[in-house]
Amino acid sequence: MQLDFARAFGEAHPVVRSRLYPDTTDAEWGDWRWHQQHRITTVEDLERVVRLTDDERAATQATARRFRMAITPYWATLMDPEDPACPLRRQAVPTSGELRVWPGERPDPLAEETFMPVPGLTHRYPDRVLLYTTHNCAMYCRYCTRKRKVSDPDSQPGKSELDVALDYIRRTPTVRDVIISGGDPLSLSNERLDALLEALAAIPHVEVARLGTRNLVTLPQRVDAGLAAVLGRHQSRHLAVWVMTHFNHPKECTDDAWEACERIASTGTPIQNQSVLLRGVNDQADVLAQLSRRLLRMRVKPYYLLHADLEEGIGHFRTTIGEGKALLHALRGPLSGLGIPQYVVDLPTGGGKVPVVPDYEAQRPRPAGGDDPGADEWVFTNWQGRAIAIPEPLPGPVGIG
Ligand SMILES: *Cc1c(COP(=O)(O)O)cnc(C)c1O
Ligand code: SF4
Repeated sequence: MQLDFARAFGEAHPVVRSRLYPDTTDAEWGDWRWHQQHRITTVEDLERVVRLTDDERAATQATARRFRMAITPYWATLMDPEDPACPLRRQAVPTSGELRVWPGERPDPLAEETFMPVPGLTHRYPDRVLLYTTHNCAMYCRYCTRKRKVSDPDSQPGKSELDVALDYIRRTPTVRDVIISGGDPLSLSNERLDALLEALAAIPHVEVARLGTRNLVTLPQRVDAGLAAVLGRHQSRHLAVWVMTHFNHPKECTDDAWEACERIASTGTPIQNQSVLLRGVNDQADVLAQLSRRLLRMRVKPYYLLHADLEEGIGHFRTTIGEGKALLHALRGPLSGLGIPQYVVDLPTGGGKVPVVPDYEAQRPRPAGGDDPGADEWVFTNWQGRAIAIPEPLPGPVGIG
């Protein structure tokens, strides 16, 4: 696999930008507010940036009421205007696959609404909670697992709801780790994020705050100097702030995304990535390997590769678990261990995340005639397919005592 980093960080998009947005100044393009205001939200807008298929056109209209479409101009310049199979286009432009509901799919696959001790907060594991701050995102990902509320302005948590959730964290001393989620918390102003981190920092038992955001990917301009200052200000011995982001494809690793990561990393904030395994987007070993290599260059650690949830209307994105395992197997060896994410399934009904690991090992009795009859051995198959056995530990070290 040959990597072309010169192209990796800056793929064609300045050229596309001058074609799609010829009158936009550099100052406008660098300003996230401009991108917010010029988001693509209608079929007419969309026709101006890509040549739509009949399926995409019909689906955009048919899904509009269920799950809004919004695409930043930045993202629009990364989509292939001619190819409906473009991995970035598939993530952002509706298709008729969304109208089909597959067996097992449901509106709240992870039962996040059930594990809610107070509105706006999911508490599933003993020491960490998921806090919903806003239901807005810069771009709406067509496979989102929270379509039931994300993009819906009517279900937006209000300030009092956030206060109630913070109060719950305050009076629940087992909570060490708060995942600030949404929607996308970077839809909030820097001032509000500052106030939220301030409130968390004041709670003695909270040790870690994770800011879960896709803005680094869909609107990297959002990572402005003000945001970096907020992150830097809240790193302390008492509270560590981590950024959890969501890159899915190497084409998303642009110069602008590098810049956003650099701004965050230079404040001493670690960045981790959670990808979703998506058919037709990143379900190939070389795509995942290239994504990981670029992330590592951006100082982003690939953390999770999430199997697609049983969210309604995303069957066209879902792979089989077997395919996921085979992909992970193909990464081990050719790719640095630092670049290998953990492949996890988030179980329905709130069962939580479990890792899925390729089958590398088998236990069997040691062959007869050895010096430790009755003991087992483990036989491992390495990344090259070679079988290598190690014995289970003997009762005591050989040759001593
Ligand atoms: C994913 C998730 C977490 C965090 O899980 P980690 O494995 O610690 O990253 C916490 N709460 C909920 C509800 C989650 O879905
Ligand atoms: S950024 Fe996250 S919450 Fe927002 S639409 Fe995408 S997957 Fe859903």
